[in-house]
Amino acid sequence: MVTISARAAARLRHGHVWVYRSDAIAASDLAKGAVVSVADERRNLLGTAFYSTSSQIALRLISTGPVADVAALVSERMRAAIRLRQSWVENSDSWRLIFSEADQLPGVVADKYNDIVTVQFLSQATEQEWFRSALLEVIRDEVKPAAIVERVEERIRELEQLPERKSGVVGSNTPLKPTEGLNGAPTRTIFNLNGVRFHFHALEGQKTGAFLDQRENYAAAATYAHGEAMDVFTYQGGFALHLARRCEHVLGVDASRAALETAEQNEALNREANRNEIEWMEANAFDLLKDYAGTGRQYDTIVLDPPAFAKTKKDAGSALRGYKEINLRALKMLRPGGILVTCSCSHHVSETDFIDMLRDAASDARRVVRVLEKRGQAKDHPVLLGVPETAYLKCVILQV
Ligand code: SAH
Repeated sequence: MVTISARAAARLRHGHVWVYRSDAIAASDLAKGAVVSVADERRNLLGTAFYSTSSQIALRLISTGPVADVAALVSERMRAAIRLRQSWVENSDSWRLIFSEADQLPGVVADKYNDIVTVQFLSQATEQEWFRSALLEVIRDEVKPAAIVERVEERIRELEQLPERKSGVVGSNTPLKPTEGLNGAPTRTIFNLNGVRFHFHALEGQKTGAFLDQRENYAAAATYAHGEAMDVFTYQGGFALHLARRCEHVLGVDASRAALETAEQNEALNREANRNEIEWMEANAFDLLKDYAGTGRQYDTIVLDPPAFAKTKKDAGSALRGYKEINLRALKMLRPGGILVTCSCSHHVSETDFIDMLRDAASDARRVVRVLEKRGQAKDHPVLLGVPETAYLKCVILQV
């Protein structure tokens, strides 16, 4: 039993699922990743939680009642999460199967890229053997992938004080040669989002694959895109490849040469569907936008999808200045009727703050701007109403 402060109890009763260490009184011999009952100071039961001995978030609630068989509950949740998506995802073979708190499974993420599933165990509780084997069994059963690959986040393992571990194949449904074992399982594939094809390498260098949370926004952006387009912060070409089917010319900009090399290989997979060759440019987006806006360049469609500028709450102010700078320059460069698709994945910047920033940018750019759509993350990255942190992606589509 872990007792929590009145403030933390009120938060849980209001639908949240986290208790910070400073709000929890736990016995000092409680094991890493223990499954514990949570009670308020008057000993009223608030639910059942995963405990971490090291994280700032000491407790992650998994149920608002007692839990008799935690392994059975967890397996049931995993199956439910995986099945829900099957009715949501359209015209794609890749999506997030399980998303941590948003699926009431704090500390575990699983993504499907065509026939490969990647898994991440992100807490002391989900790292335990009973949890790992439950997940692998459910995935084998429900998804039947050619390979299940664990991707290790070293920073999180350090925070959770877990022993080092290497990324690698942890399961397979393909008959493998006995001599090769799991080494014979595939770790590369080609996957499809909205009919656009991408390379996926589960175990190489930087994260390949895609931002699956943008899948529905890619499709939405493509419905408005026209003319001359620029995709800034293109990474491996997510938006650019969708725009290239509609636009006469597409420029994809990123600071990472490695990302652009993959983008080019992705382009080769989609060449027949594209109207013209995409131009890929390695550049700092801030410098390039300043330069292009200064020399009076014009576009019909611009996408801005930068990395999270605010990593912590106190960065929110400077993040908003960064967002404003790039949005202001983009708005200046758009021809009348032009489309701006503008995103933020910082959860420390709220949708309201983001829209206010866009209003300021439009006013400074002296443009009249219509809001076509206010969007968020794809539905396979659900948002829990009680846990605002699960809503992080903003994607606003504007017309000048
Ligand atoms: N739009 C992409 C995801 C973008 S992720 C998609 O849909 O897949 C953010 C990208 O911004 C990364 O590829 C990173 O290399 C790039 N980046 C970060 N800082 C940059 C800068 N100052 N100029 C240009 N690119 C930058």
